[in-house]
Amino acid sequence: MYIIILGAPGAGKGTQAANIARELKLAHIASGDLFRQAVEQGDELGTRVKDYMNKGVLVPDEITIHMIMERVSAPDCRYGAILDGFPRNLKQAKALDEALKKQNKAVDRVLYIEVPEEELIRRLSGRWVCRSCQTPYHSPGSPPEGRDKCELCGGQLYQRPDDKAETVKKRLRVYFSETAPLIEYYRRQGKLLAANGEGGVDIVTARILSALRKREFITK
Ligand code: AMP
Repeated sequence: MYIIILGAPGAGKGTQAANIARELKLAHIASGDLFRQAVEQGDELGTRVKDYMNKGVLVPDEITIHMIMERVSAPDCRYGAILDGFPRNLKQAKALDEALKKQNKAVDRVLYIEVPEEELIRRLSGRWVCRSCQTPYHSPGSPPEGRDKCELCGGQLYQRPDDKAETVKKRLRVYFSETAPLIEYYRRQGKLLAANGEGGVDIVTARILSALRKREFITK
């Protein structure tokens, strides 16, 4: 079972992917988290991708596709995975289709989380993220309610360097020109499920699970 979660930066892909992965007992693979980990560790991959990420542009396809294909081949993905942040353009989508086909597998569903652009900018400009578990908090200016620790795991909260106003605008432009065409690509394949991403986290998760059930993708 392979599910892709699509949506603009700030749509809530990471949070929703984690919730759905827990519910369906699937591995959660977030390309942005994998890149950020590499940058934090300062390893070879991190050094290669850091500048692209700080500018808000996409990391070259060769690097990204290689990293994801390796991750998808890990034992915890043998029953499937939720892919969050990948694919980000048509070349990556086609590479994924081909790689899965070689293993007699395919993308089953693509969840598209829809959020209006003004709301995306509002969310991203006040975003704080836990360094350990990646839980996002919203608080323009200062850390949420004067705290600097995650209420779930106690990890340190920080602001992503690519959440600066200028970089946010760039990331949204990149999303609309390179990633948004995937909506049509998967709609034509009959795999797209759209869900309204506005409202509380739990409400959006419930909407997504209900959309998956209606299409008999999950039966519980
Ligand atoms: P995200 O956490 O998904 O917002 O990703 C943060 C940054 O990581 C992006 O702005 C890109 O620079 C890079 N990145 C993440 N996923 C991909 C991808 N599939 N293709 C290329 N670059 C990516």
